Amino acid sequence: AIVTVISLTISFISCGQKESHSPYHKEIEALLTQMTIEEKVGQTAQFTLDVIGEGENVYSSHFPFKLDEVMLNDVLVNRKTGSILNTATNTPLTLDEWQAVVSRIQEIAIEATGIPVIYGIDAIHGTTYTQKATFLPQQIGQAATFNRDLVRKGAENTAYETRASNLPWNFSPVLDLGRNAAWPRIWETFGEDVYLISELGKEVIKGYQGADRDVVDEHHVAACLKHYMGYGTPVNGKDRTPANIPLHELVEKHYEPFVRAVEAGALTVMVNSGIVNGESVHASYNLLTKMLKEDLQFDGVVVTDWQDINNLYERDRIAKSDKEAIKIAFNAGIDMAMVPYDVDYTDYFIELINEGEISMSRLDDAVRRILLLKYRLGLFEKPVFDYAGYEKFASIDHQDEARRAAEESITLLKNVENLLPLSPKLRILVTGPNAHSMRTLQGGWTLSWQGEKVEQFIDNHNTFLTSIKKHANDVVYAPGVSYKMDAWWKEETTNIAEAVNAARNVDVIVACIGENTYTEKPGDLNNLSLSQNQQDLVKALAQTGKPIILVLNEGRPRTISDIEPLAGAIVQTYLPGTFGGEVTADILFGVTNPSGKLPYTYPKHPNSLMNYDYKPAENRTEMQGAYNYGALQDLQYGFGHGLSYTTFEYSNLKVDKPEFTPSDTLTFSVDVTNTGKRTGKESVLLFASDLYASITPDNRRLRGFDKIELSPNETKTVQIKVKASDLAFVNLAGEWVLEEGDFNVQVGSEVVMINATQSGRWTCPFRRF
Ligand code: BGC
Repeated sequence: AIVTVISLTISFISCGQKESHSPYHKEIEALLTQMTIEEKVGQTAQFTLDVIGEGENVYSSHFPFKLDEVMLNDVLVNRKTGSILNTATNTPLTLDEWQAVVSRIQEIAIEATGIPVIYGIDAIHGTTYTQKATFLPQQIGQAATFNRDLVRKGAENTAYETRASNLPWNFSPVLDLGRNAAWPRIWETFGEDVYLISELGKEVIKGYQGADRDVVDEHHVAACLKHYMGYGTPVNGKDRTPANIPLHELVEKHYEPFVRAVEAGALTVMVNSGIVNGESVHASYNLLTKMLKEDLQFDGVVVTDWQDINNLYERDRIAKSDKEAIKIAFNAGIDMAMVPYDVDYTDYFIELINEGEISMSRLDDAVRRILLLKYRLGLFEKPVFDYAGYEKFASIDHQDEARRAAEESITLLKNVENLLPLSPKLRILVTGPNAHSMRTLQGGWTLSWQGEKVEQFIDNHNTFLTSIKKHANDVVYAPGVSYKMDAWWKEETTNIAEAVNAARNVDVIVACIGENTYTEKPGDLNNLSLSQNQQDLVKALAQTGKPIILVLNEGRPRTISDIEPLAGAIVQTYLPGTFGGEVTADILFGVTNPSGKLPYTYPKHPNSLMNYDYKPAENRTEMQGAYNYGALQDLQYGFGHGLSYTTFEYSNLKVDKPEFTPSDTLTFSVDVTNTGKRTGKESVLLFASDLYASITPDNRRLRGFDKIELSPNETKTVQIKVKASDLAFVNLAGEWVLEEGDFNVQVGSEVVMINATQSGRWTCPFRRF
């Protein structure tokens, strides 16, 4: 009972308002007293250099890159804009060009207002819009590594290269839940599991921002958590369509990764474009001000997503005009408007202040947060850096780390009778639309928004095909199906007969299939199945009787249930980045041993979407005849599935406190032995199941993981700590509770029972300590 009292006390203290001031308090207050309303409103605006206003005010794209002085003058002098994003051309710039662009912008802005601009970019798997940057696997592949160190280092290197490009603010990481396989941004997430997302999210924050969030140095950038919150589970799987999420699930699953990342010091948050439970998130005082700024004491900047203030009027119709939309969004807690399309943004805002519709103190609060961010990033001191000082840009070290992340992401899903690894002596047909494409290895947000400029700007051409040719002499290539690279991304052309003819003369077929690049709305699907052309290709190849290996290069799990039985081996590569071709070939030929595990549930049918923790997904008791919800039959592959060329055995799972109270931390230990013939890496995953609870408990939930390497016959003891509070769940009132009773904890094949001898309740709104 004493323990409960203590935790309640802590909760109340932590929910209170922060008293302390930032180290830049004096400077910021002094600046605020000197600023005009126009200047304050200008700070809250973020424009891109090619889209501003409508009709005559739309600035067109320029290529090769050329800064338009008239446009700059309009944006920076007339509008006194505080922030710029993306490139004007959807085209990557050189480091030199970036420096020239940012220097000119800062020069004009500082002369006009005395305040530097903050430039933001989507460097979501490397520095997207910089030529020659290092590209990591997209987030979904990084999740498959289950390797915290690799993810942190990748983020560190991305921060370095982004800052080298004079871009101090990265719109990353994505902390949305990848729980709807059809959603076109699932590859931008860390997958479906809340714990995995939260853990890797924290590593990314460390990697991007460095050790001190108040002094982000010249090798680090500000992170931006997105898209707060509930964006990843639209009912119909299409981008920016409404989500309906019960309160307990919103708090336990969607809010949690943001809670953890804010605790880890994240400096900015971007808001979900969509509608959650009938409410436009950009208009939600509860979600933005109460739950984010007050409950989490978030002192950073809340930025809208693209044009979303305008959307409150034109799309969501909760505002009758653009002006009213500005009022609703800022009063809900928005600090910065990304692309306020309406050219009258500044005028409307000033009118709203003069009419008392937005208070001066709300505007000041927004501006304070923006100025604080600029101070934290050192922009007042040094608005431009010399890229020449960044000799580690795209260095061998950075590339090796990206290669390692790619290598550990590749996930072997199936390998019947050890079809893999392949002998280099075999005659091989390489086929499929993804076989010879750097673009599909990279995915969207690479060198351009939809990834369409990858081939034009990449130096490394180690596709699956060219990499396979480095291992084997006798390789033929016939794609069978091709994407129209210069046309709309969904279109395919076929020459299946040619591929089938070639297949007749080989020993084995490697079919590289999947998707072309996309992100956001253009990637919406009507059917989750792999395209008909590609399925036809695999079926036709199977007629030859030759063994087939499917290499899946896709941003989401396109269903393959009709062709899966035709394949002897299946390798999931996700969107592995620049080194994806090389590392996949190394795995196909056994130079490296695969160690990725699926960060999502691979559904069997388009209509069998399910998450592994889905309640109740299976019968966990021996009750005969009870209704089985069928989830398990609908799986193609389960969350956490991934094979190796060696075998691991688990034994001796133990816990130090089989009986525990809400304030305890439990230490589990388990022995893992490599019982095969090759050295291999293994992600050790710990799942916990609450056996009975007052609302149906989740099937099981990931609550710990670690990645280890073992040589043949080696055994390691892995320790995983789990806080009792991590075994709690959120009840229908939105509170975290731990109920007395039994839990079982599984690691590999091992299971141990534990028992909560006391209940606990964490009353601070939506928080758990
Ligand atoms: C996306 C964001 C992105 C922003 C800026 C939006 O369309 O939803 O994820 O950060 O554009 O490019």
